[in-house]
Amino acid sequence: MPSDADLNQYLELLSFGSISTDSKYKDQVLACANWLERKLNAIGLKATQYETPGNPIIIGRGPVKSGRPTVLIYGHYDVQPVDPLNLWHKPPFEPTIENGIVTARGASDNKGQIFAHILGIEQTLREKGDLPVNLIVLIEGEEEIGSVNLAPFLKAHREELACDVIAISDSSMIAPGYPTFTYGLRGIAAIEITVTGPDRDLHSGIFGGAVENPITVLARLIAGLHDENRKVLIEGFYDGVRDLAEWERTSWKELPLQEAALLKMTGAPALAGESGFTPLERIWARPTAEVNGIGGGYQGEGTKTVLPSKAQAKFTFRLVPDQDPAKIVAIVEDYFRKHAPPSVKIELSPGHYGQPYLVDPHAGYGMAAQRALARLLPDCKPALIREGGSIPIVADFKSILNADTLLLGFALPDCNAHSPNETFPLAHLDLGARLNRYLLEAIAG
Ligand SMILES: [Zn+2]
Repeated sequence: MPSDADLNQYLELLSFGSISTDSKYKDQVLACANWLERKLNAIGLKATQYETPGNPIIIGRGPVKSGRPTVLIYGHYDVQPVDPLNLWHKPPFEPTIENGIVTARGASDNKGQIFAHILGIEQTLREKGDLPVNLIVLIEGEEEIGSVNLAPFLKAHREELACDVIAISDSSMIAPGYPTFTYGLRGIAAIEITVTGPDRDLHSGIFGGAVENPITVLARLIAGLHDENRKVLIEGFYDGVRDLAEWERTSWKELPLQEAALLKMTGAPALAGESGFTPLERIWARPTAEVNGIGGGYQGEGTKTVLPSKAQAKFTFRLVPDQDPAKIVAIVEDYFRKHAPPSVKIELSPGHYGQPYLVDPHAGYGMAAQRALARLLPDCKPALIREGGSIPIVADFKSILNADTLLLGFALPDCNAHSPNETFPLAHLDLGARLNRYLLEAIAG
């Protein structure tokens, strides 16, 4: 358990309502940034606060010595909104502790996890007057709103932020007690489609049968995205998809997140997906074509005999190494244009996209991460996992700073990140502090 002084500092950090999406909280965001700058200076780093067009970025630096690697630890001090407030058992910015569990907005995401790193750094500096590596701590205040100012900041400060590897703890262990190393993320490409038939809604009795129904066309186009084995039928979709390694297939079968757990988490009556792959393989290492929303025609009460003018749908494609999001957008557009009949017009508007990410967990700093986790929880083999989601900053770090990221989260899957009553086990402050120490030592070699 953390000392009283450390615990009080953690609770102080949690008491800032640093919600980045709502300008009402701007003062709290700035106060939180000031607090962190002071804290990093107080533990013996040299901390500076940088203005951005949005919220400030805090940079802390440890002692620099030549001949040792530079590690950048990333975290964020902004938090998600607290709505719906009535579902919280206690006020979200007045942290409470019960049975060793802290409840507050930001308790795990990301204040608890970044604060644990700060504790680890503080302990090492106090004991040794130095760190095993050259350290840069970067804490931003806009992660929950897309980190829009981070990439420009990285570009502008490329030289000062040059590093060999990046560590981020902003994810969860796969299950309590499982030291977890996330070495891969899926990428994403978003696109919207509008199918237009007649130039206005028509009477389905007067015109139906002679004029195209755009909803029928869109439904057919969507149904045509997959075959009966859930393979995506867009030409070229699987180009560049890296095969799963044999060790991944074997080790993922031993993880505690199998079919039964997924059924329980989702409430779905049965799982479904691409044949030839297990559920985890489908989520972590296979690309998908997902319809996120569909609309068109009359949706009010009762009947309206209308032949609608338009139908719309939103899609996201989750991508894996080495698919290229820009290419995927291009072939998806080709698919819709090629298969739409001449009786409709098609408009496509691509949305955001992010690159997939993979670091070799069995090489270089990947091995260092594994060694640190094995030392942290020696009774349990480190879980080497990928995630189905996307963390765009990881791709930014790679493309701008040319450094790999080690994702070593130690929140728990039931910490309610982004939900009411967010929690963090106090024991994980110590766990994270130790992980920080072991990781920096392992990276130093
Ligand atoms: Zn978050």
